[in-house]
Amino acid sequence: MESKIQHLGVAVGSIEDALSFWRDGLGLELHEIEVVEDQGVRVAMLPLGESRIELLEATGEDTPVGKFIAKRGAGIHHLCIEVENVTAKLAELKAKNVRLIDEQPRIGAGGALVAFVHPASTGGVLIELTQRGTGNH
Ligand code: ZN
Repeated sequence: MESKIQHLGVAVGSIEDALSFWRDGLGLELHEIEVVEDQGVRVAMLPLGESRIELLEATGEDTPVGKFIAKRGAGIHHLCIEVENVTAKLAELKAKNVRLIDEQPRIGAGGALVAFVHPASTGGVLIELTQRGTGNH
């Protein structure tokens, strides 16, 4: 499988505060900040090699990232892996009894086709699959 880590999602209390390390300290460039209403999250994208860091700030407490931070604190939230075809990969994983959060792909940041795999089946890491060539980032 020719693939790559497309991005690493880091849950933060405040994007502005986190930028003092990721942008001002480490020197990454802030490409843009996008609000994904559907997921109740603000996403700051910082390209890093062929991948990128995404800083995730909840827009409210009752959102996936808001709940994650309340329960576990800020930190690594998910790893996104690029695949050729998300729908086909979901079917393949389902056939192997992998627990999925999304049975069907949906639209994520930048309009990309994405789907999440449950941490219970991955060694404890929330995995996002994204389809190569979809999305505008
Ligand atoms: Zn992501």
